[in-house]
Amino acid sequence: MKQLKVDAIKDGTVIDHIPGGRAVQVLKILNGSAQDTVSIGMNLLSGKYGRKDIVKIENHELSADEVNRIAIIAPTASITIIRDYEAAEKRKVEIPGELINIAHCPNPNCITNHETISTRFDRHKNPTDDRTEFMCHYCEKIYEPDSLKIKVG
Ligand SMILES: [Zn+2]
Repeated sequence: MKQLKVDAIKDGTVIDHIPGGRAVQVLKILNGSAQDTVSIGMNLLSGKYGRKDIVKIENHELSADEVNRIAIIAPTASITIIRDYEAAEKRKVEIPGELINIAHCPNPNCITNHETISTRFDRHKNPTDDRTEFMCHYCEKIYEPDSLKIKVG
């Protein structure tokens, strides 16, 4: 696996401890920030989680909404806001209670894939092991967070 050196940034946001290989999905979620300079480190060794990715975005401080969207696919992520090369603020990611128009429903028969309506998923806990899952409001199928297809654009 290729390792990129991720340099320090002056102002912006560092998203660390993204599960290995998910940086690209994180960037999809942040497509509104795509004009900012982004650097990515992928599959870096991390004692705690095995392999991790890091995303650094220059001149953009993530909003609470963006942070919560990241939690869908990177619940272990840590968010640090950088101002003048210093860690000014740390934010915890929190999985949102509902996802409105953030992801496509993976069920090809779901009405949201046939009509132009906003998708909606509600957070749900797996009764056997407490894992976080999302239920489609329309077809009522239950999905693991990583199996949702994040909308682009
Ligand atoms: Zn559905």
